[in-house]
Amino acid sequence: MYELNEKIKNLKPYDPVEGEMKIRLDANESCVNLPDEIMKEIHAAIDKIDFNRYPDPNATGVCRAFADYYGISPSCVTAGNGSDELISLIMTAFMMKGQTLVISEPDFSMYRFYTSISELNCVSVAKKDGLTLDADALISAGRGENVGAIIFSNPCNPTSKGLSSDDVRRIIESVDCLVVLDEAYMDFWDESLLKEADKYKNLIILRTASKAVGAAAIRLGFAVACKSVTNALKAVKSPYNVNTVTQEIGRIIFSHNEYLTKTKNYIVSQRKSLYNSVAKLESDYPQYFSAVSGCSNFVYIKSPVGRQLFDYLHSLGTAIRYMGDYIRISAGTCEENTTLISQIREFCKTVLKE
Ligand SMILES: *Cc1c(COP(=O)(O)O)cnc(C)c1O
Repeated sequence: MYELNEKIKNLKPYDPVEGEMKIRLDANESCVNLPDEIMKEIHAAIDKIDFNRYPDPNATGVCRAFADYYGISPSCVTAGNGSDELISLIMTAFMMKGQTLVISEPDFSMYRFYTSISELNCVSVAKKDGLTLDADALISAGRGENVGAIIFSNPCNPTSKGLSSDDVRRIIESVDCLVVLDEAYMDFWDESLLKEADKYKNLIILRTASKAVGAAAIRLGFAVACKSVTNALKAVKSPYNVNTVTQEIGRIIFSHNEYLTKTKNYIVSQRKSLYNSVAKLESDYPQYFSAVSGCSNFVYIKSPVGRQLFDYLHSLGTAIRYMGDYIRISAGTCEENTTLISQIREFCKTVLKE
């Protein structure tokens, strides 16, 4: 009789927030949808697709547009079906069974998830105060026996804290293992190593169109690395991993430099204003909220009433992320943030009776 193996028999499918949510601040997506001008270009491009044909396996057009936007060479770029696909690919192809992956939790939960699928050991390095990456601790763990790779997000999801490019360089230069630097939120900060990626033999930088670029729907991510690592990535990926519709839409979006810069600046200003509102909440209710200042598009908040607040907001159609001792709230539009804060204040008065 067939039985599911140990690795998968207790896994549960990804469980998104249920119900019709009016305000979605749980997944760190962009709060800005594409403008009509870009939508028109997208419609015209889709009209020209030969749907009977396979996609371009090299995703040439979208990789070039991505590379032009960031000022790097397209020869260092591999496109993926979201950066999630690239993480999975790296965990299966660049790691050998039984090797160790070094992470530093709290971090993006998919890193640990893939270690069990790929039959890897996982070592999690403690953060300073539980929040900030400890470069020295990562280096000493990275030098440990049988370590295949270090992976971390910078800025970090969920803490929103960033590690300076000097510290990241020091990590890459101090270890022999692969360093996977997940810059999913680096558009919101300014310490990227993208322009230096081809200098290092042991570095893969991941970027995504799902956050600042505002295109989570199309599933598009990128790996940026030196030529030999890029060749290996292209050799191990499935040939048609990025569909033609996504390639076309991504190519168009990345050609709109001005739009992307303007939108990114707006989102950063919304994150700052959300942080300020939460800081005010904290001064009124220091026992319930403690906001972490960061450099992404979301705010990480320590709260002993996170679960109750999550349920309360959920019943009003507002989704946030509950993470145990902390909650994580993505920056919304100006109106969304205003509504959210008044809902939280109402929660304090009616549920906590403060
Ligand atoms: C959202 C996120 C991703 C996922 O990006 P996709 O391209 O949508 O798969 C990767 N890494 C981190 C740290 C993220 O927060």
